[in-house]
Amino acid sequence: MVRVNESNSFKLLCADTLVVVLIGPGGVGKGTVARRLLQLDERMWLSRSWTTRSPRPGETGTEYFFVTREVFEDAISRNYFYEWAEFHGNLYGTPLPQPPQDHDVLLEIEVDGAQQVRERDPGAAIILLSAPTIALLEQRLRGRGDQEEHIVRRLDSTRREIERGRQLCDYEVVNDDIERASHEILSILEGLRQLRRIPS
Ligand code: 5GP
Repeated sequence: MVRVNESNSFKLLCADTLVVVLIGPGGVGKGTVARRLLQLDERMWLSRSWTTRSPRPGETGTEYFFVTREVFEDAISRNYFYEWAEFHGNLYGTPLPQPPQDHDVLLEIEVDGAQQVRERDPGAAIILLSAPTIALLEQRLRGRGDQEEHIVRRLDSTRREIERGRQLCDYEVVNDDIERASHEILSILEGLRQLRRIPS
């Protein structure tokens, strides 16, 4: 199901490089959908974020640039980030994007960062990935081995993230099936690319 947020969609007409921002609560499957989009769309380039959190069990070290808070704060002071935010006690940030030529930029970030992207680039397309139910989200968070305390905190903030995401997003896509959700996002991107070809 795709819901178009008409009040925000006019801002999509004036971008050079399309910046696509995938937001949504923890465990909703943003990472999986982002990786699938990269496979399906050769023009898409995924930014690799920095974070001060530690790698989770099973993470290989390529998911982020894992850095200390000191290194991260030094990068902030040098204006290295396109956006950055603190999320549950850890810092996360997107380096200024440098995609290969003719590529669009895909960011997989939380909602405070998405708000900053919106302010920097009003033409960014913000897509909220939501889960069919909160129970399913809880199941996914447990399935990836997060600590109990962390899971409880995540679920507490889930409703707030969805609420804020709905205010900010241009489109909402329900991730009840990764293939379907990824193809829905692809259709949205194709539509936006067509629009950009139309001179204003
Ligand atoms: P996790 O710790 O589960 O990998 O990520 C926690 C949250 O931070 C997720 O919502 C994820 O999308 C978000 N996130 C990842 N990278 C960035 C980033 O560069 N900037 C911001 N603002 N959020 C990020």
